[in-house]
Amino acid sequence: QCINLSHIVESSISKFQIHAKKKQQEMVYNKTDNDYKIIGDANRIEQVIKNIISNAVKYSNEGDSITINVYEESSYVVVMIEDTGMGIPNEDLTRIFDRFYRVDKARSRAMGGTGLGLAIAKEIMDCHGGHINVTSEVGVGTCFYLYFPYEA
Ligand code: ATP
Ligand code: MG
Repeated sequence: QCINLSHIVESSISKFQIHAKKKQQEMVYNKTDNDYKIIGDANRIEQVIKNIISNAVKYSNEGDSITINVYEESSYVVVMIEDTGMGIPNEDLTRIFDRFYRVDKARSRAMGGTGLGLAIAKEIMDCHGGHINVTSEVGVGTCFYLYFPYEA
């Protein structure tokens, strides 16, 4: 199925604007003229993007900001979701994609959720021939990259 990734990103963002606003967070989407069309399951891809955005809101503090960019890189279109939140310790970075893995058990329990979001995201990205990457620094922020196969 040919789907419009740019539209999915925009509608996902609009669903979280209110949550971000409640936490005084600024959510910035740098819109491009391009509409990126890819092959995939729109609902599953929306599920991935919404999980990453919800994490960014959930694991960032008041006044932090969330930036979303969509751009082309070699044979991929990349959705980048960056936050200036609490960050993830290096030793946890490889494990956050495991089922039920959560960095701070006590804190996470208080915040709700299951620890499945990123495991599901990784699986959905694999199914689409794509992948998911993360970079993070404690106290500085986190950046997730979603790579979707793309032909211009
Ligand atoms: P669920 O998504 O099932 O509601 P969850 O958000 O805890 O629960 P994941 O989305 O899989 O589960 O994330 C796993 C863990 O990775 C989180 O519990 C959190 O500790 C850490 N994490 C994910 N995204 C971020 C982020 N943007 N900043 C800091 N930590 C994060
Ligand atoms: Mg989550």
